[in-house]
Amino acid sequence: MMLPRVKKGNGREVNLCGRVFNMSTRRASQPRRCPRCKIHQQYCFCAHIKPIEIQSTLSLVVHVRELKLTSNTAQFLQEMMPKNTHFDVRGRMDEVFQTAHILERSGRPLFLYPNETSVELNEEFKNSYPGPYHLIVPDGNWHQARKVHQREAGFTAIPTVRLPAGLVGEYQLRKAPRPEFLSTYEAVAHALGILEGEHVRDELMKLFRIFVKSVMHSRTDFHAKLELPE
Ligand SMILES: [Zn+2]
Repeated sequence: MMLPRVKKGNGREVNLCGRVFNMSTRRASQPRRCPRCKIHQQYCFCAHIKPIEIQSTLSLVVHVRELKLTSNTAQFLQEMMPKNTHFDVRGRMDEVFQTAHILERSGRPLFLYPNETSVELNEEFKNSYPGPYHLIVPDGNWHQARKVHQREAGFTAIPTVRLPAGLVGEYQLRKAPRPEFLSTYEAVAHALGILEGEHVRDELMKLFRIFVKSVMHSRTDFHAKLELPE
């Protein structure tokens, strides 16, 4: 665990166990990150990103604040399905979010969000509503995600769908309110697993597990180094 630091002036900081950090040195020794997977180069897992072919269109409605977070998982969906994935950023200052171009994309539109009227994705659903599909997924924290379907007029007419009960998130890098709340990446992997076939879910989850493991590993190492005596 990182200890809180107290600023001391002259560009120096000290944490509560008395260890002094020189800010300029610390900045210079910041680990170099892979520009693609955003992790320390030593743990880069880009070699494991093997794009797959799917029939569905995927629209990720991402909050602007999420884009900068290394814990955001949605970017890897685009890496895995580059031909089918679209990013639409909302929450930008002085910019009204537009839905018209999103609604024009091909496939039966489905909005992935578990609300009161959402229909469960399963074989029966697929038989009643055949694809190809256009899966629209709100990304961001749970509060932001809820607002997307409620507030964007263009989305309110699109039926909401939810994942079957019983799935448990494997994402340990960010706290979810309940274990059945999945990260965006996992939710999409499971939804496409139903809509497209299990092989799609398996390929997506294979990369996801490597991603979580790599980030956990890099974080543990980083904190272990901080605690080393000088
Ligand atoms: Zn990388």
